[in-house]
Formats: sequence, C-alpha cells, structure tokens
Amino acid sequence: MRTSENKFDLVILNGTVVTMNQAFDVIKDAAVAIKDEHIALVCPTKELPDDWTARQTIDATDAIIIPGLINAHTHVPHSLLRGVGDGLPLERWLSEAIFPIERACVDEDFVKVGARLSIIEMLLGGTTTFADMFFYEHAIAQEADTLGIRAVLGETVMDFPTPDAPEGVRQGLSLAEKFIDEWKGHDRITPAVAPHAPYTCAPETIRASRDLAYKTQTPVLIHLSETKHEVDQILKKYGATPIHYVAREGLFDVKVLAAHVVHPQSGELALLQEKNAGIAHCPRSNMNLASGAAPIRRMLDKNLRLGLGTDGAASCPTTNLFEEMGTAARLAKLHHERADVVSAREIFAMGTIGGARALGMEERLGSIEPGKLADIVVVDTGSSSLEHAPIYDIYAHLVYSTAEARDTIVGGMLVVRDKRVLTIDWQRLRRQVREQSDRITLVAK
Ligand SMILES: [Zn+2]
Repeated sequence: MRTSENKFDLVILNGTVVTMNQAFDVIKDAAVAIKDEHIALVCPTKELPDDWTARQTIDATDAIIIPGLINAHTHVPHSLLRGVGDGLPLERWLSEAIFPIERACVDEDFVKVGARLSIIEMLLGGTTTFADMFFYEHAIAQEADTLGIRAVLGETVMDFPTPDAPEGVRQGLSLAEKFIDEWKGHDRITPAVAPHAPYTCAPETIRASRDLAYKTQTPVLIHLSETKHEVDQILKKYGATPIHYVAREGLFDVKVLAAHVVHPQSGELALLQEKNAGIAHCPRSNMNLASGAAPIRRMLDKNLRLGLGTDGAASCPTTNLFEEMGTAARLAKLHHERADVVSAREIFAMGTIGGARALGMEERLGSIEPGKLADIVVVDTGSSSLEHAPIYDIYAHLVYSTAEARDTIVGGMLVVRDKRVLTIDWQRLRRQVREQSDRITLVAK
C-alpha cells in the first residue's frame, strides 16, 4: 500500500552525500529526499522505501551532494565595482575610490542590478545563503526573493550621509526599522541592522543599532577589527580596542555577526566566544587590501562560530565561495608556514555548518540531515569536468578543485539546473550591467 509518507517533491539519487553532520558522515551511492522545503530522508539509494514516488528526480551519478554554501559577509551591489581602487589599503580604498563612487552612483537601480549579478554568481557557485550589508537593502531583498536565494540582509547605518539616508544617521536608522518591519517573517529573507564599523559609528549609533535589533529581535551585522589602523584609531578615540569598544556600548546584548576580525586584541576572542557572536572570515578581501591574516587556528580551537565571507566583489573580486575556501586554507598555511595548520574538512565546515553557526541558524541550515531546510548543491564530477579526475580526498577536492555547482536547490526549490539559473533573463541582465558600468566609468574619470 502506498502511504503519503513516501511521496516526495524531489529526490536526488545515486550521489556521494557529504552530510556535514556531527559525525561528518559521507554516504556513497546515496539519496536525499525532499518534501516541501525540508529534507525528509538521507540514506543509501537502495534503502529508499519500496513505494517512494517523487514529482521530480535528479540523477547524481558521478556527482557529490553537499549542503548549500553560506557566504557570511558580502555587499552584493559591489559586483558593479570589481577591481576599482586596486592597489590601495582599506582606508584609502574606501575614502578615495569606493565612497566617492557610491555617493555619485548608488541608487535603487544600481543596487538592484549589482545584487542580481552577485546573486546569480553565488547560485552558480553553490551558495544558497548570503549575509549582506549595504544601502537600499529592501531592493536587495526583492532581488533575493525573486531569484530564489536565502539571505540575512542588514540596512547599513553610518554617522555620515549615505546614498539612501542623505540626512544622516537618524534617517538611516528609521530606514533600517522600516526595512525590518517590511521583511520580518519572510521564509527566506531575515532582515537585520548593520552599523557599518567602529570607525564610522559613534557610541550613540552603536547603541541605537543595538536598541533597534533588540526591539525587533533581529541580528546585527558589523565590520570589526579589520585592520591594524582601525585598532589604533579606535583605541585612541574611545580608549578601547574595536571589539571591547562595541561591547562597552552593549552591542553583544543582541546576536552579532562580525566580519573580518583580523586583528583581535587581548581578551577579544574570548569575548566573542562568551557572547556567542559569529565571525565571517574574508581572506581574499583581507589579502587584496593588505589587511592581514585572521587567526583562524585560534578561532577554531576556541570553537568560535566561524564562517566564510567573500566581502563585496570590489575587494575580492567574485562572490564564489569555493574560491574563498581554497584561499582560506592557503592563506592560513602560508601565514603559519605549516601545511597542517588547518584541514580541508575544517575549511569546508567553515563554508557550510560553520557559516550556519555564525548566522545562528545551525538548527535549520548547514548540513544534510532530516528536518533541516533543503538547501542542497550537486557538484558534477563526471567526464565533462577534467579537474575532477581523479578524486582521493573528498574534502580536499571540494576545497581546492571545485569551482561551480551543477544544480542548486534552495528550500526544496530547484534554482540552478545543469549550470543554468532558471530564474533570470541573461541578455537583459547583461544590458543592465553595461548601462550601469557606463555611468560608473564617467564618475570614476
Ligand atoms: Zn565588508
């Protein structure tokens, strides 16, 4: 007799499942069955119930099935500024290259087109969730909603006028509140508030952001301790190093996701641990801007909530998390001059379950386990992809040799099939990107 229990929406068959569960089980010739937006069953294909049926099946023979990757820090509209200001350190890169272009060019259209471009790139690169801080964040939410990706989105707040808050910080905070009210409760979009950084946010701004997050029960996204210059500047200005400074203003009363944390000072990692804060390690951005190498070995040893972020494509210059994983491993090895300083499995965990922990969403995301949201990626390792032959260590393979997804599923919905995004008109997007880059070129001259 057929039971509705074994009727699935989507079943992925015959692949190697890298679960990233607590035991790090890797199951060969396995299947993942999805019902509604959740994972219903993970088992060897031959152990599927006899009477199973599915509306759709995907054959994953010669393929690896992994949890969707999590990009824990980015600025998606920055895809329109790839390579801008190359050769400048962070402070000059922001003040001489990025902020002037943002003041002149960033409007809702810029944000939409840039977001669209980055989101497409992320979906093709196997990312199913991203955390973002920018302006006009409601436009990014609309794009993420339309394109089918999951996101934690923070409207950026700073002490000085911004593209969408020309009157200053009060206006920025009220925009953030309006954005949160509009998107709270959405099944794929989590709104947040994003005080930009200690060097752009005075104590009152940090406290007001904390109050808003507390009142609306939303997370805070912030850049923290990115450069040595920031540490010196904040110590001089406020008498405390960056993480202690925001702690003193009560920021950790709410859930915080800190991007970078390249130069934590005495007691600051312990503080992040005590406060359950997340960290987004962004090695490619840190290398491009010569900010330094974050102490990820110490962070891992403290079991901190450590994920990976690409940062915006202006400093990166792509939002591909596979590339970020390979770079994270290589940077740590080079920095410590130790090949065994971090394992490929630890790095792959940072791109999946670690990112989920950084976002405080590990109960729902980050591994392939029954009951979790069906955010799943299929990586083709068949004959069409030379870089996948042969495979010995599956984690090393995913971290160092993989660049793209074949199929990407978000919340049970197939968004990328055979390396094509199903939710976008490519020709139209190319035209829009050209129009925006023509504007930016005029301003940058
Ligand atoms: Zn950033």
